[in-house]
Amino acid sequence: MMELSYQSMKIANQVREADDVKTEMRKKSLLILIHHHLLGQGYMDTAAVLDQETSGSLRKFDVCDNIDLEMVLMEFESYQYVKFQKYPKLIRKTLEPDRSRSGGVKRSPCSALRRLPKINAPQSSQSGSGSKKTAISENVSSAPPEMSDFGLNVTSIKTGPTGEVNMVQERLLKPLSGLSAMDGEMAELAAIISRDIYLHSPNVHWKDIIGLEDAKRLVKEAVVYPIKYPQLFTGIRSPWKGLLLYGPPGTGKTLLAKAVATECKTTFFNISASSIVSKWRGDSEKLVRVLFLLARYHAPSTIFLDELESVIGQRGAGMGKEHESSYRMKTELLVQMDGLVKSEDLVFVLAASNLPWELDHAMLRRLEKRILVGLPTSGARQAMISHWLPPLNSTQGVELRTELDYETLAKNTEGYSGSDIQLVCKEAAMRPVRKIFDVLESHQHETTALPDIKLETVTTADFLNAITHTKPSARNLMDKYTAWEREYESV
Ligand code: ADP
Repeated sequence: MMELSYQSMKIANQVREADDVKTEMRKKSLLILIHHHLLGQGYMDTAAVLDQETSGSLRKFDVCDNIDLEMVLMEFESYQYVKFQKYPKLIRKTLEPDRSRSGGVKRSPCSALRRLPKINAPQSSQSGSGSKKTAISENVSSAPPEMSDFGLNVTSIKTGPTGEVNMVQERLLKPLSGLSAMDGEMAELAAIISRDIYLHSPNVHWKDIIGLEDAKRLVKEAVVYPIKYPQLFTGIRSPWKGLLLYGPPGTGKTLLAKAVATECKTTFFNISASSIVSKWRGDSEKLVRVLFLLARYHAPSTIFLDELESVIGQRGAGMGKEHESSYRMKTELLVQMDGLVKSEDLVFVLAASNLPWELDHAMLRRLEKRILVGLPTSGARQAMISHWLPPLNSTQGVELRTELDYETLAKNTEGYSGSDIQLVCKEAAMRPVRKIFDVLESHQHETTALPDIKLETVTTADFLNAITHTKPSARNLMDKYTAWEREYESV
């Protein structure tokens, strides 16, 4: 009898243990299914956090063929239907959303996008409910860093009236699951690229770019108008797919690209080519592929490739030393650009180079439109100086006072680029400040309060003196640019 009850206890224990194991397995399977579902829907970061919170155990498993969370739910619904002739109610609205929990946490726009929530993205500015717009714009108020660790950032353009802004933001929030032909690795790269999306305009407007009237006009014609008035750019007038901005450093090429980003309603992918190569190495080729895939997915898009020569140097030159992965990346870039030409997608490649003669001919062929962004003219230089050292007294902390002969200064800065002139202005503005440093330093020992400071006026002599210390960076190269322009002038 004793023996029998001992046996039955043992069996009962075994059954309980087996049940426990089964329950544990079920819980784990559920987590794995959720993890799989999140990945499939493009919630890469959420999946990563879930995996982290379960000590990295989820990644080690995959769901079996033909199983996923959606299917499990469907099976459950069918079962309930067969049993009770009605479908089960799976979710219901929470009565009172717990505001206290989310209210305290300030979410950055990046983290909001990182979650890539699934919404039905309306494709026009008119669609989308007001409340949805508010919810999204709440998450995008602050500015994330301008350049990511990967030398790549993606900007959604915030333009004018709220409706337009939200259109772009909602477009960006499309879940990555909408992208077919994405394996796990590519999805991860896409999530990394998307993570660097910042919903903040670079805030450079056409009016902020001094001079460069021709370049502005050409850029508008090539990129801005085809997006604004697509009906005018069909057939033979189909828009350029690739545009090269070339010229001396510091002349406003990046500014032009940023103005496109600000003024145009496009998703803006900003890539520093050299960072791609140095930081991505083996993965740079895949990154380029995913980048173009994303650009198409979020079209209309602009891809801005800065310092192009650092990846697309002539293949012949230094071929032996050329890193294998960099070569593959170049090839991928060319293939992708060919793809753009054949497609109807509104995706533009805007490239910038200070050394166009070093560019690969294959790449040049794909950058059909080439625009020289030259050194500022005398008028532009004068406008720049009066912009940075305005004639009127302005209060920038301690008053900046100027007494400058702008015409003479413009004459004396021939050959200087915009950024050179900005440097000279800074240097000139520092002169009166330097003179009072000694007074300030000696005063600090006596009291913490600053003495009443009156800075000397910045004079023409200050400026001319600063010029002697700041040499123009590209004056001698200008002939080379114009010679190159003659040879490679675009159609
Ligand atoms: P790059 O041609 O090398 O891309 P940038 O566009 O980055 O040059 O310009 C560098 C800086 O020089 C700008 O941030 C701006 O302050 C100044 N600058 C250059 N050109 C202009 C311009 N045409 N108008 C206003 N600022 C300019």
